Amino acid sequence: MRSISIFGVTGSIGEQTVDLVRRAGGAEAYRVVALTGGRNIARLAELARELRAEVAVCADPSGLAELRDRLAGSGVAAAAGAEAIAEAADRPADWVMSAIVGAAGLVPGFRALRHGKSLALANKESLVTAGPLLMAEAEARGARILPVDSEHSAIFQALAGEDIATVERIILTASGGALRDWPLEALARATVQEALAHPNWAMGQRITIDSASMFNKALEVIETREFFGVEPERVEVIIHPESLIHSMVGFRDGAIMAHMGAPDMRHSIGYALNWPVRADLPVARLDLAQISTLTFRAPDLTRYPALRLARAVMERRGLAGAAFNAAKEVALDHFLAGGIGFMDMAGVVEASLDALEPDLGRTNAAPALDDILQMDHLARTKADEIARRRAGSR
Ligand code: NAD
Ligand code: MG
Repeated sequence: MRSISIFGVTGSIGEQTVDLVRRAGGAEAYRVVALTGGRNIARLAELARELRAEVAVCADPSGLAELRDRLAGSGVAAAAGAEAIAEAADRPADWVMSAIVGAAGLVPGFRALRHGKSLALANKESLVTAGPLLMAEAEARGARILPVDSEHSAIFQALAGEDIATVERIILTASGGALRDWPLEALARATVQEALAHPNWAMGQRITIDSASMFNKALEVIETREFFGVEPERVEVIIHPESLIHSMVGFRDGAIMAHMGAPDMRHSIGYALNWPVRADLPVARLDLAQISTLTFRAPDLTRYPALRLARAVMERRGLAGAAFNAAKEVALDHFLAGGIGFMDMAGVVEASLDALEPDLGRTNAAPALDDILQMDHLARTKADEIARRRAGSR
Protein backbone atom coordinates (compact mmCIF):
# COMPACT_ATOMS: atom_id res chain seq x y z
CA MET A 1 0.00 0.00 0.00
CA ARG A 2 1.35 3.44 -0.89
CA SER A 3 1.97 5.77 2.02
CA ILE A 4 1.14 9.48 1.78
CA SER A 5 1.31 12.65 3.87
CA ILE A 6 -0.52 15.91 3.22
CA PHE A 7 0.87 19.19 4.57
CA GLY A 8 -1.76 21.92 4.60
CA VAL A 9 -4.60 19.38 4.39
CA THR A 10 -7.26 21.85 5.56
CA GLY A 11 -6.59 24.32 2.73
CA SER A 12 -7.90 24.56 -0.79
CA ILE A 13 -5.23 22.29 -2.33
CA GLY A 14 -5.25 20.02 0.73
CA GLU A 15 -9.01 19.42 0.58
CA GLN A 16 -8.88 18.76 -3.17
CA THR A 17 -6.08 16.26 -2.58
CA VAL A 18 -8.24 14.54 0.02
CA ASP A 19 -11.12 14.51 -2.46
CA LEU A 20 -9.00 12.48 -4.90
CA VAL A 21 -7.62 10.22 -2.17
CA ARG A 22 -11.17 9.59 -0.92
CA ARG A 23 -12.45 8.77 -4.42
CA ALA A 24 -9.60 6.28 -4.81
CA GLY A 25 -10.65 4.47 -1.60
CA GLY A 26 -9.27 6.68 1.19
CA ALA A 27 -7.75 4.76 4.10
CA GLU A 28 -8.44 1.47 2.28
CA ALA A 29 -6.22 2.52 -0.63
CA TYR A 30 -3.49 4.57 1.06
CA ARG A 31 -1.62 4.38 4.33
CA VAL A 32 -1.88 7.96 5.57
CA VAL A 33 1.14 8.98 7.60
CA ALA A 34 0.85 12.67 8.53
CA LEU A 35 -1.79 15.35 8.03
CA THR A 36 -1.09 18.95 9.03
CA GLY A 37 -3.23 22.05 9.29
CA GLY A 38 -3.07 25.61 10.56
CA ARG A 39 -5.85 26.85 12.87
CA ASN A 40 -8.85 24.81 11.77
CA ILE A 41 -8.48 22.10 14.42
CA ALA A 42 -11.97 20.67 13.99
CA ARG A 43 -11.47 20.02 10.29
CA LEU A 44 -7.96 18.64 10.79
CA ALA A 45 -9.22 16.14 13.37
CA GLU A 46 -12.15 15.14 11.17
CA LEU A 47 -9.86 14.42 8.20
CA ALA A 48 -7.32 12.59 10.37
CA ARG A 49 -10.06 10.32 11.72
CA GLU A 50 -11.53 9.69 8.29
CA LEU A 51 -8.16 8.83 6.71
CA ARG A 52 -6.84 7.05 9.84
CA ALA A 53 -3.66 9.11 9.85
CA GLU A 54 -0.76 8.13 12.09
CA VAL A 55 -0.33 11.72 13.25
CA ALA A 56 -2.18 15.03 12.93
CA VAL A 57 -0.29 18.27 13.54
CA CYS A 58 -1.66 21.80 13.81
CA ALA A 59 0.57 24.84 13.32
CA ASP A 60 -0.88 26.74 16.25
CA PRO A 61 0.58 25.42 19.57
CA SER A 62 -2.41 26.74 21.52
CA GLY A 63 -4.61 24.32 19.57
CA LEU A 64 -2.94 21.17 20.91
CA ALA A 65 -5.36 20.50 23.77
CA GLU A 66 -8.36 20.79 21.48
CA LEU A 67 -6.71 18.59 18.84
CA ARG A 68 -5.97 15.90 21.48
CA ASP A 69 -9.58 16.11 22.67
CA ARG A 70 -11.00 15.74 19.22
CA LEU A 71 -8.72 12.79 18.44
CA ALA A 72 -9.29 10.98 21.74
CA GLY A 73 -9.82 7.25 21.18
CA SER A 74 -9.05 7.45 17.45
CA GLY A 75 -5.48 6.13 17.61
CA VAL A 76 -4.25 9.25 15.77
CA ALA A 77 -1.33 10.94 17.55
CA ALA A 78 -1.58 14.74 18.01
CA ALA A 79 1.18 17.35 17.91
CA ALA A 80 1.46 21.11 17.39
CA GLY A 81 3.86 23.85 16.34
CA ALA A 82 6.22 24.52 13.46
CA GLU A 83 8.86 22.08 14.71
CA ALA A 84 6.26 19.31 15.05
CA ILE A 85 5.20 19.95 11.44
CA ALA A 86 8.82 19.61 10.34
CA GLU A 87 9.12 16.40 12.37
CA ALA A 88 6.03 15.03 10.67
CA ALA A 89 8.00 15.39 7.43
CA ASP A 90 10.73 13.19 8.92
CA ARG A 91 8.26 10.30 8.91
CA PRO A 92 8.87 8.51 5.63
CA ALA A 93 6.06 8.47 3.06
CA ASP A 94 6.09 7.47 -0.61
CA TRP A 95 4.24 10.61 -1.67
CA VAL A 96 4.07 13.92 0.16
CA MET A 97 1.83 16.85 -0.76
CA SER A 98 3.37 20.21 0.14
CA ALA A 99 0.34 22.52 0.30
CA ILE A 100 1.03 24.85 3.20
CA VAL A 101 0.70 28.47 2.06
CA GLY A 102 3.73 30.76 2.26
CA ALA A 103 7.35 30.33 3.31
CA ALA A 104 6.14 28.16 6.23
CA GLY A 105 5.99 25.33 3.66
CA LEU A 106 9.71 25.41 2.92
CA VAL A 107 11.17 23.42 5.82
CA PRO A 108 8.64 20.55 5.82
CA GLY A 109 9.02 20.12 2.05
CA PHE A 110 12.78 20.26 2.29
CA ARG A 111 12.82 17.62 5.04
CA ALA A 112 10.43 15.36 3.13
CA LEU A 113 12.90 15.25 0.23
CA ARG A 114 15.38 13.37 2.42
CA HIS A 115 13.46 10.14 2.02
CA GLY A 116 14.21 10.12 -1.69
CA LYS A 117 10.53 9.70 -2.66
CA SER A 118 8.00 11.97 -4.39
CA LEU A 119 7.22 15.50 -3.29
CA ALA A 120 4.12 16.98 -4.93
CA LEU A 121 4.86 20.68 -4.71
CA ALA A 122 1.99 23.14 -4.57
CA ASN A 123 3.98 25.43 -2.28
CA LYS A 124 5.63 27.57 -4.98
CA GLU A 125 7.06 29.83 -2.26
CA SER A 126 9.65 27.14 -1.45
CA LEU A 127 11.07 27.24 -4.97
CA VAL A 128 11.04 31.03 -4.99
CA THR A 129 12.87 31.30 -1.68
CA ALA A 130 15.14 28.26 -1.97
CA GLY A 131 15.06 26.93 -5.55
CA PRO A 132 18.72 25.92 -5.95
CA LEU A 133 18.79 24.35 -2.47
CA LEU A 134 15.60 22.34 -3.02
CA MET A 135 16.58 21.13 -6.48
CA ALA A 136 20.04 20.09 -5.25
CA GLU A 137 18.55 18.24 -2.28
CA ALA A 138 16.12 16.37 -4.54
CA GLU A 139 18.98 15.41 -6.84
CA ALA A 140 21.26 14.31 -3.98
CA ARG A 141 18.54 12.19 -2.35
CA GLY A 142 17.13 10.75 -5.54
CA ALA A 143 13.78 12.36 -4.76
CA ARG A 144 11.36 13.58 -7.40
CA ILE A 145 9.58 16.92 -7.23
CA LEU A 146 6.24 16.82 -9.06
CA PRO A 147 4.86 20.28 -9.77
CA VAL A 148 1.26 20.92 -8.70
CA ASP A 149 0.87 24.55 -9.71
CA SER A 150 -1.36 24.24 -12.79
CA GLU A 151 1.09 26.11 -15.06
CA HIS A 152 4.05 24.00 -14.00
CA SER A 153 2.12 20.77 -14.21
CA ALA A 154 1.14 21.82 -17.74
CA ILE A 155 4.76 22.56 -18.68
CA PHE A 156 5.93 19.31 -17.06
CA GLN A 157 3.39 17.41 -19.15
CA ALA A 158 4.28 19.28 -22.34
CA LEU A 159 7.94 18.39 -21.73
CA ALA A 160 7.34 14.66 -21.29
CA GLY A 161 9.69 12.85 -23.66
CA GLU A 162 11.27 16.12 -24.85
CA ASP A 163 14.83 17.37 -24.51
CA ILE A 164 14.89 20.56 -22.38
CA ALA A 165 17.79 21.79 -24.55
CA THR A 166 15.35 22.15 -27.47
CA VAL A 167 13.05 24.50 -25.53
CA GLU A 168 13.05 28.03 -26.90
CA ARG A 169 10.45 29.57 -24.62
CA ILE A 170 8.02 28.77 -21.86
CA ILE A 171 4.78 30.72 -21.96
CA LEU A 172 2.92 31.01 -18.67
CA THR A 173 -0.74 31.88 -19.02
CA ALA A 174 -2.38 34.21 -16.51
CA SER A 175 -6.09 34.84 -16.07
CA GLY A 176 -5.39 38.42 -15.02
CA GLY A 177 -7.35 37.92 -11.81
CA ALA A 178 -10.37 39.73 -10.46
CA LEU A 179 -9.36 43.28 -11.43
CA ARG A 180 -8.19 42.48 -14.95
CA ASP A 181 -10.63 44.79 -16.70
CA TRP A 182 -10.54 47.66 -14.23
CA PRO A 183 -9.14 51.00 -15.40
CA LEU A 184 -5.58 51.49 -14.12
CA GLU A 185 -6.52 54.56 -12.00
CA ALA A 186 -9.18 52.59 -10.11
CA LEU A 187 -6.80 49.85 -8.95
CA ALA A 188 -5.36 51.90 -6.10
CA ARG A 189 -8.83 51.89 -4.47
CA ALA A 190 -9.60 48.18 -4.95
CA THR A 191 -10.83 46.50 -1.77
CA VAL A 192 -10.02 43.02 -0.47
CA GLN A 193 -13.52 41.81 -1.41
CA GLU A 194 -13.11 43.10 -4.97
CA ALA A 195 -9.69 41.50 -5.37
CA LEU A 196 -11.10 38.19 -4.10
CA ALA A 197 -13.66 37.84 -6.91
CA HIS A 198 -11.53 35.59 -9.14
CA PRO A 199 -13.15 34.95 -12.53
CA ASN A 200 -12.05 31.31 -13.04
CA TRP A 201 -10.37 29.60 -10.13
CA ALA A 202 -11.58 28.92 -6.58
CA MET A 203 -8.43 29.07 -4.43
CA GLY A 204 -7.19 30.08 -0.99
CA GLN A 205 -7.61 33.75 -0.04
CA ARG A 206 -3.93 34.69 -0.29
CA ILE A 207 -3.25 33.27 -3.74
CA THR A 208 -6.49 34.81 -5.02
CA ILE A 209 -5.32 38.32 -4.08
CA ASP A 210 -1.90 37.47 -5.50
CA SER A 211 -3.61 36.58 -8.77
CA ALA A 212 -5.24 40.01 -8.99
CA SER A 213 -1.91 41.77 -8.36
CA MET A 214 0.00 39.21 -10.49
CA PHE A 215 2.34 38.61 -7.58
CA ASN A 216 1.22 35.02 -8.08
CA LYS A 217 2.45 35.08 -11.68
CA ALA A 218 5.67 36.76 -10.55
CA LEU A 219 6.27 33.87 -8.13
CA GLU A 220 5.45 31.43 -10.92
CA VAL A 221 7.94 32.98 -13.35
CA ILE A 222 10.66 32.47 -10.73
CA GLU A 223 9.29 28.99 -9.96
CA THR A 224 9.60 28.13 -13.68
CA ARG A 225 13.15 29.35 -13.83
CA GLU A 226 14.13 27.35 -10.75
CA PHE A 227 12.24 24.14 -11.46
CA PHE A 228 12.94 23.73 -15.16
CA GLY A 229 16.37 25.40 -15.06
CA VAL A 230 15.64 27.68 -18.03
CA GLU A 231 17.13 31.14 -18.50
CA PRO A 232 14.85 33.96 -17.26
CA GLU A 233 14.56 35.52 -20.73
CA ARG A 234 12.96 32.31 -22.02
CA VAL A 235 10.03 32.65 -19.61
CA GLU A 236 7.11 34.73 -20.92
CA VAL A 237 3.73 35.67 -19.47
CA ILE A 238 0.55 36.11 -21.48
CA ILE A 239 -2.92 37.02 -20.27
CA HIS A 240 -5.42 34.39 -21.28
CA PRO A 241 -8.73 35.28 -19.62
CA GLU A 242 -10.43 31.92 -20.26
CA SER A 243 -7.79 29.94 -18.26
CA LEU A 244 -8.28 26.93 -20.53
CA ILE A 245 -4.68 26.76 -21.72
CA HIS A 246 -2.73 26.18 -18.54
CA SER A 247 0.64 27.03 -20.09
CA MET A 248 2.73 26.33 -23.20
CA VAL A 249 6.19 25.24 -24.23
CA GLY A 250 7.73 26.55 -27.47
CA PHE A 251 10.46 24.44 -29.10
CA ARG A 252 13.25 25.45 -31.45
CA ASP A 253 11.40 24.07 -34.47
CA GLY A 254 8.64 26.61 -33.84
CA ALA A 255 6.16 24.09 -32.43
CA ILE A 256 4.18 25.09 -29.35
CA MET A 257 2.76 22.43 -27.05
CA ALA A 258 -0.19 23.79 -25.09
CA HIS A 259 -1.86 22.03 -22.20
CA MET A 260 -5.63 22.49 -22.07
CA GLY A 261 -8.32 21.51 -19.63
CA ALA A 262 -11.00 22.78 -17.31
CA PRO A 263 -9.71 25.16 -14.61
CA ASP A 264 -9.79 22.55 -11.84
CA MET A 265 -6.75 21.98 -9.60
CA ARG A 266 -7.69 18.35 -9.22
CA HIS A 267 -6.18 17.84 -12.66
CA SER A 268 -2.64 18.78 -11.65
CA ILE A 269 -3.01 17.30 -8.15
CA GLY A 270 -4.25 14.04 -9.69
CA TYR A 271 -1.47 14.05 -12.28
CA ALA A 272 1.12 14.33 -9.49
CA LEU A 273 -0.67 11.73 -7.33
CA ASN A 274 -0.83 9.12 -10.08
CA TRP A 275 2.34 9.99 -12.02
CA PRO A 276 3.60 8.43 -14.26
CA VAL A 277 0.16 6.91 -14.88
CA ARG A 278 -2.76 8.98 -16.19
CA ALA A 279 -5.73 8.03 -14.02
CA ASP A 280 -9.43 8.82 -14.46
CA LEU A 281 -10.06 12.21 -12.87
CA PRO A 282 -13.37 13.84 -11.96
CA VAL A 283 -12.73 17.03 -13.91
CA ALA A 284 -15.12 18.59 -16.42
CA ARG A 285 -14.43 17.82 -20.09
CA LEU A 286 -14.09 20.79 -22.43
CA ASP A 287 -16.73 21.39 -25.08
CA LEU A 288 -14.58 23.19 -27.64
CA ALA A 289 -17.42 24.06 -30.01
CA GLN A 290 -19.22 25.76 -27.18
CA ILE A 291 -16.07 27.58 -26.04
CA SER A 292 -15.37 28.58 -29.66
CA THR A 293 -12.69 31.24 -29.00
CA LEU A 294 -9.55 31.60 -26.95
CA THR A 295 -8.09 35.06 -26.42
CA PHE A 296 -4.66 36.36 -25.44
CA ARG A 297 -3.09 39.70 -24.65
CA ALA A 298 0.25 40.99 -23.40
CA PRO A 299 0.38 42.03 -19.74
CA ASP A 300 0.86 45.75 -19.07
CA LEU A 301 3.80 46.19 -16.67
CA THR A 302 2.46 49.46 -15.24
CA ARG A 303 -0.60 47.54 -14.05
CA TYR A 304 1.50 44.65 -12.83
CA PRO A 305 4.74 45.94 -11.31
CA ALA A 306 5.16 42.50 -9.67
CA LEU A 307 6.18 41.07 -13.06
CA ARG A 308 8.91 43.68 -13.42
CA LEU A 309 10.15 42.95 -9.88
CA ALA A 310 10.30 39.21 -10.65
CA ARG A 311 12.76 39.96 -13.48
CA ALA A 312 15.03 41.83 -11.07
CA VAL A 313 14.83 38.96 -8.57
CA MET A 314 15.84 36.43 -11.23
CA GLU A 315 18.80 38.58 -12.23
CA ARG A 316 19.90 38.82 -8.63
CA ARG A 317 19.16 35.26 -7.43
CA GLY A 318 21.00 34.38 -4.21
CA LEU A 319 18.79 35.58 -1.34
CA ALA A 320 16.65 37.86 -3.51
CA GLY A 321 13.89 35.25 -3.90
CA ALA A 322 13.61 34.82 -0.13
CA ALA A 323 13.47 38.60 0.37
CA PHE A 324 10.92 39.06 -2.42
CA ASN A 325 8.58 36.37 -1.16
CA ALA A 326 8.76 37.45 2.50
CA ALA A 327 8.17 41.12 1.66
CA LYS A 328 5.25 40.08 -0.56
CA GLU A 329 3.69 38.04 2.25
CA VAL A 330 3.95 40.96 4.66
CA ALA A 331 2.61 43.48 2.12
CA LEU A 332 -0.34 41.15 1.54
CA ASP A 333 -1.00 40.94 5.31
CA HIS A 334 -1.14 44.75 5.44
CA PHE A 335 -3.49 44.93 2.46
CA LEU A 336 -5.76 42.28 4.01
CA ALA A 337 -5.79 44.25 7.29
CA GLY A 338 -6.76 47.43 5.44
CA GLY A 339 -3.52 49.28 6.23
CA ILE A 340 -2.27 49.79 2.68
CA GLY A 341 -3.90 49.97 -0.73
CA PHE A 342 -3.86 47.38 -3.50
CA MET A 343 -1.14 49.09 -5.55
CA ASP A 344 0.92 49.81 -2.42
CA MET A 345 1.77 46.10 -2.14
CA ALA A 346 4.25 46.31 -5.02
CA GLY A 347 5.60 49.59 -3.63
CA VAL A 348 6.30 47.96 -0.26
CA VAL A 349 8.01 45.00 -1.89
CA GLU A 350 10.16 47.17 -4.14
CA ALA A 351 11.20 49.48 -1.29
CA SER A 352 12.02 46.44 0.86
CA LEU A 353 14.21 44.91 -1.83
CA ASP A 354 16.01 48.23 -2.26
CA ALA A 355 16.59 48.55 1.47
CA LEU A 356 17.83 44.94 1.70
CA GLU A 357 20.15 45.20 -1.27
CA PRO A 358 23.35 45.27 0.84
CA ASP A 359 22.24 42.09 2.67
CA LEU A 360 21.37 40.05 -0.39
CA GLY A 361 24.86 38.67 -0.80
CA ARG A 362 26.61 37.46 -3.89
CA THR A 363 24.62 37.20 -7.09
CA ASN A 364 23.92 33.63 -8.22
CA ALA A 365 25.27 31.94 -5.10
CA ALA A 366 23.13 29.06 -3.77
CA PRO A 367 22.54 30.08 -0.14
CA ALA A 368 22.17 27.60 2.72
CA LEU A 369 18.85 27.02 4.51
CA ASP A 370 19.88 29.03 7.58
CA ASP A 371 20.79 32.06 5.47
CA ILE A 372 17.49 31.80 3.64
CA LEU A 373 15.50 31.61 6.86
CA GLN A 374 17.44 34.57 8.25
CA MET A 375 16.72 36.61 5.13
CA ASP A 376 13.06 35.61 5.33
CA HIS A 377 12.98 37.01 8.86
CA LEU A 378 14.93 40.16 8.03
CA ALA A 379 12.77 40.92 4.99
CA ARG A 380 9.59 40.50 7.04
CA THR A 381 10.83 43.01 9.61
CA LYS A 382 11.88 45.46 6.91
CA ALA A 383 8.67 45.13 4.88
CA ASP A 384 6.56 45.49 8.02
CA GLU A 385 8.37 48.72 8.92
CA ILE A 386 7.88 50.11 5.41
CA ALA A 387 4.23 49.08 5.24
CA ARG A 388 3.48 50.67 8.63
CA ARG A 389 5.07 53.90 7.50
CA ARG A 390 2.92 53.89 4.34
CA ALA A 391 -0.20 53.04 6.31
CA GLY A 392 0.53 55.94 8.66
CA SER A 393 0.87 58.43 5.81
CA ARG A 394 -2.39 57.38 4.12
P1 NAD B 1 -5.02 27.80 1.77
O1 NAD B 1 -4.86 29.08 2.50
O2 NAD B 1 -6.36 27.40 1.30
O3 NAD B 1 -4.45 26.60 2.67
C1 NAD B 1 -3.18 26.66 3.27
C2 NAD B 1 -2.95 25.51 4.22
O4 NAD B 1 -1.75 25.79 4.97
C3 NAD B 1 -4.05 25.32 5.26
O5 NAD B 1 -4.10 23.96 5.64
C4 NAD B 1 -3.54 26.17 6.43
O6 NAD B 1 -4.10 25.79 7.66
C5 NAD B 1 -2.07 25.86 6.37
N1 NAD B 1 -1.23 26.90 6.96
C6 NAD B 1 -1.35 28.25 6.84
N2 NAD B 1 -0.37 28.88 7.50
C7 NAD B 1 0.41 27.91 8.04
C8 NAD B 1 1.59 27.93 8.82
N3 NAD B 1 2.19 29.08 9.20
N4 NAD B 1 2.14 26.75 9.19
C9 NAD B 1 1.56 25.58 8.83
N5 NAD B 1 0.44 25.50 8.09
C10 NAD B 1 -0.13 26.65 7.69
O7 NAD B 1 -3.97 27.84 0.56
P2 NAD B 1 -4.07 27.12 -0.85
O8 NAD B 1 -4.78 27.99 -1.79
O9 NAD B 1 -4.50 25.70 -0.69
O10 NAD B 1 -2.54 27.17 -1.29
C11 NAD B 1 -1.57 26.28 -0.76
C12 NAD B 1 -0.31 26.37 -1.60
O11 NAD B 1 -0.60 25.92 -2.92
C13 NAD B 1 0.21 27.81 -1.76
O12 NAD B 1 1.61 27.77 -1.82
C14 NAD B 1 -0.36 28.25 -3.11
O13 NAD B 1 0.43 29.22 -3.73
C15 NAD B 1 -0.31 26.94 -3.87
N6 NAD B 1 -1.28 26.86 -4.97
C16 NAD B 1 -2.61 26.88 -4.70
C17 NAD B 1 -3.53 26.79 -5.73
C18 NAD B 1 -5.01 26.76 -5.44
O14 NAD B 1 -5.77 26.54 -6.38
N7 NAD B 1 -5.47 26.95 -4.25
C19 NAD B 1 -3.08 26.71 -7.05
C20 NAD B 1 -1.71 26.69 -7.29
C21 NAD B 1 -0.82 26.75 -6.24
MG1 MG C 1 -0.64 28.69 -10.82
